[in-house]
Amino acid sequence: MTRVRFAPSPTGKIHIGNTRTALLNYLHAKKTGGTFILRIEDTDSQRNVEGSEARLIEDLKWLGIVEDEGTVAGGDYAPYRDSEIIATGIYEEVIADLKAKDHLYECFVSQEELDIMRKIQTSQGKAPKYDNRHRNLSEEEKAAFIAEGRTPVLRFKMPEKEISWNDLVRGEVKFHTSNLGGDPVVVRSNGIPVFALANAINDELHKVSLVIRGEDHTANTAQQIAIYEALGYDIPQMAHTPMLLDTDGSKLSKRLGSLGIRDLKAEGYLPQAITGLLASLSMGSEAPVAAEIEELAAKFDLAKMGRNSAKFDIEQVKRLNAQFIQTLSYEQIKPYLDGFMPETDMSEEKIALFWEAIKKNITLLSDLKAEFDLCFNKKGDEVVAEEDKEFIKQALEVLPESFDETTWKTLTSTLKEQTDRKGKQLFMPLRVAITGFAHGPEMGPLLNLMGREIVKARLEQSL
Ligand code: GLU
Repeated sequence: MTRVRFAPSPTGKIHIGNTRTALLNYLHAKKTGGTFILRIEDTDSQRNVEGSEARLIEDLKWLGIVEDEGTVAGGDYAPYRDSEIIATGIYEEVIADLKAKDHLYECFVSQEELDIMRKIQTSQGKAPKYDNRHRNLSEEEKAAFIAEGRTPVLRFKMPEKEISWNDLVRGEVKFHTSNLGGDPVVVRSNGIPVFALANAINDELHKVSLVIRGEDHTANTAQQIAIYEALGYDIPQMAHTPMLLDTDGSKLSKRLGSLGIRDLKAEGYLPQAITGLLASLSMGSEAPVAAEIEELAAKFDLAKMGRNSAKFDIEQVKRLNAQFIQTLSYEQIKPYLDGFMPETDMSEEKIALFWEAIKKNITLLSDLKAEFDLCFNKKGDEVVAEEDKEFIKQALEVLPESFDETTWKTLTSTLKEQTDRKGKQLFMPLRVAITGFAHGPEMGPLLNLMGREIVKARLEQSL
């Protein structure tokens, strides 16, 4: 049974970059009938941001990504939040075990000493790393540091060896531990494990069978495999996904990488467009479509994930958004309209007509207001040409008494017979007179929606 997890730290927001990791794990779980775990990794209390856990759960839910197990749904392997795991004493036990097996040691090196070490290494053209200088301190040396008032961190004795794994995306990955930056700190001076250790213990605790995460974690994985081996844990399968790039091929910039899902929601993007593009970028071949998350899951195949990085283009999400919106009935879009649909006392039936009339003309839900204004509040700035004014007067004379979905057709056929006008000459002055724009929603549904009173007033006003 596949067990995957998304393990955000509550330090910020859900953005395009981490949405993709969450999505891939979720789609894989759904496709394989597995379990999707949402774990909150909050061991770094200094970086935690108040309220961000609740926000990220809400944002994921909006995207359609909902946990099978986690802080909200609970589960057989609770707790699912680091701070609660700390309270169970599990980390402490594991740390004691590692110590007993002689995998950890106290390191008293200060930040200044580390900085100097790095500077010297860099000036010698070497990659900066911790030189393991406190690995074999005597009891007297330790006592002297403690007497100086230093508090130690615990470092993991990284064995000298090659670590390799068969990555489900990247194939065989090899790392020599001498390239991992020296013995890593695994426990802070306050006794709390750092990410690499807590995360490895968590995956064992939650019986995670497959870790899908970004390629930027490969060095962490090498380090964590050494820790798993020291603890005698089974190593989960690994899948490191290529990074998303900006449209110009550079690293997904601050602008896009940090593009908050909440901000996109506020601009009127639909989750189906965002997840649709992200899923397709991860599987290559198929053209992206905006689709419900279940549909994406049905098509998802981790084996199709390419090794090359993909370019993320927000304009493409926009296009998918516009295409998808057109396919939705009022009932389908209704749950997303909050905050976009202006206050109105119109009946549901009339709002549904409004939706049908304008849905082909909007890209983002935030465009809705302008369409609403166009229909009910104010005209655009386009004015009727002098030579068309007689024609508009004629239109007023033959304006049908009662309006329905056939009114536009009736009106234009009558005018076509009475005048020599046809095509654009016939339609455009009417469109401009009624809406104040040269482009816009189809006139048939629009006329029916506006009703006789508004249409008559606007025709008169245009004169
Ligand atoms: N808490 C880690 C992060 O936010 C999790 C990384 C992982 O997927 O293992 O980067």
